[in-house]
Amino acid sequence: MSSFKKSIFISLLMWMLILLPNYAFAQDAEITGSIVNVRGGPSTQNTVITKVVKGQNVSIISEQNGWCNVKLSNNTVGWISQDLLKKLAVNNTNIQKPLPVPDAKPVPVPVPASKPVPTPIPVPKPVPNPAPTPAKTIVNVAPYAVSVTGSIVNIRQSSDTNSAILTSVKLGENLTVYGKQGEWLNVKLSDGRSGWIAGWLTKEAHSVVTPTGNTLRLPIGNRNLVLTNLDNGLKINLSGVNENDYTLSTTTNQTDLIIKVNNNGVKSAKKSINTWGVKDISIEPSYIYLSFDKPFTFTDSYVRSQLEANITFAKVQAQGINKIKLNASNEKSIVQISAKGNLEYTTSNVGTSKLYVDIPKAELKLSSANELEQAVNYGPIRKVLAKQISSDIVRLEVDLASGAICNVIENDGYLILAGRLGNGSLKGKTIVLDPGHGTIGTGGFSDPGAVGRDLKLREKDVVLGISLKLRDSLVKEGANVIMTRTSDGKYLSLEGRAAIANKSNADVFVSVHANSSTNRAANGSSVYMYAPYSKPNLYNQRNIRKELATDIQNEIVKSAGRKNLGVKEANFSVLRNTQVPSVLVETAFLSNPEEEKLFNTDGFLQKMADGIFNGLKTFFKNN
Ligand SMILES: [Zn+2]
Repeated sequence: MSSFKKSIFISLLMWMLILLPNYAFAQDAEITGSIVNVRGGPSTQNTVITKVVKGQNVSIISEQNGWCNVKLSNNTVGWISQDLLKKLAVNNTNIQKPLPVPDAKPVPVPVPASKPVPTPIPVPKPVPNPAPTPAKTIVNVAPYAVSVTGSIVNIRQSSDTNSAILTSVKLGENLTVYGKQGEWLNVKLSDGRSGWIAGWLTKEAHSVVTPTGNTLRLPIGNRNLVLTNLDNGLKINLSGVNENDYTLSTTTNQTDLIIKVNNNGVKSAKKSINTWGVKDISIEPSYIYLSFDKPFTFTDSYVRSQLEANITFAKVQAQGINKIKLNASNEKSIVQISAKGNLEYTTSNVGTSKLYVDIPKAELKLSSANELEQAVNYGPIRKVLAKQISSDIVRLEVDLASGAICNVIENDGYLILAGRLGNGSLKGKTIVLDPGHGTIGTGGFSDPGAVGRDLKLREKDVVLGISLKLRDSLVKEGANVIMTRTSDGKYLSLEGRAAIANKSNADVFVSVHANSSTNRAANGSSVYMYAPYSKPNLYNQRNIRKELATDIQNEIVKSAGRKNLGVKEANFSVLRNTQVPSVLVETAFLSNPEEEKLFNTDGFLQKMADGIFNGLKTFFKNN
């Protein structure tokens, strides 16, 4: 740095000291993990207060045991693991990206009309409180859906930026509006509470059908909508025949109701009063309202539009791709690329919400421009765009919803991009449990795993015991559990175990083992993961694999009480060959006299199973 630059730098620093005494000694940092938990204290045992995403800035207040006490731009204070942030140069102190999106409306900064200020310094203005507005009355509205447009937006107790924050919502999340006060919207949260969101941080979501008492509001312009009412088994299909005609039919495909609309409103409406109990139809510029004889309760589980797009690659050289399909629903979306034989591909994550899949030796030939892009405004995968990026490389740009996780899984003849949005629970998750050993591998080798010295307990038996208990707990919570084995003597290779996870498009893979060492004093629990930089497809999952391993490690230590040997990394076959997030749990040491005795008790096997179960529960709560 030249001394001239240095002096400017120092004078900038002085200015900051003068202007912002509170910030002057705070070290700023940028979040490097894709979605990072902000916790109440400096350990993963502490509760998650909120989350921040990659690229956002925080101020470090203090540091302790690998954790940083940080202040977010909304003044929330919490703890973040040091590994998940990068310290910024001091002169970045004042350039803070807002997080969450402040719900105070942007106010034009008054420019003093007097002398020009010598050095323009970017100073974060404390956002002025909006001038008190006359109390506005709360207006109840016919429920409609909005989609969040800010990256993270607060839901508050009342329609005022000073009121308590109940929770926050993420970009792309949909909320149902029941009332308005000024520009604030009264929304209902998934847990049933009601709160207020700044209307200017939302946009109307036209794809959502809003159930309301005994009327249904269907947005015009939405095609191929399937509604399922779980309460009485009724299913309604709404399909657009052409631009202005809508047909509603039941699952039996018998047409009950046809509504034709044009720009002036209803053209014709034919209804049959039938088992549905349709009482009336009314049309507004962008909605059709149906009212029913009886209150009509929809649950969250209705299925939104199933969009299936087929992109055909007319000319391909060695790769033999014949089609690409996007199948999207609320929580899970699949992009399926079918090919003859195995596909060569590489993936790269661009930020937290974009994934590139590059397919070499491929040439894109499309018959119309709309084959290039397929988009939906719900679910984890929002858009797939095909692009020829060089003469023989086709790139698929996949846009993900905020917080979505996308696994890339290759199977013979298919490449699957499986996106999902967490529902905060184990319900519906596909978990592959792999009790180690106990199979017959290549050459007819029967593998007992480690064998205890004193009681001669075999690893294959104790880990099967733990896994079966774990399976029962997971199934009780609504998870879909796939076991690589439930008994002894199955023919299965290590690659075959991983393939079970890949083929089933599992959410996670958990291999259960017992450790062994020539040192009989060795004891304790550890969880292994594998995601090296040299393997980009695994490295892309590095954060999520680490989180899974950490959550399970913390919980098994808590539950079974053995020594904490921490999360470790190793190139184990089942970890290397699984294309979905995977871990290998070394529960305890069979070679240790004390731990072998514990393995001989049902209570200890249950504690281990409970620990892994709690770890998975924590993981899926946050993912
Ligand atoms: Zn083992």
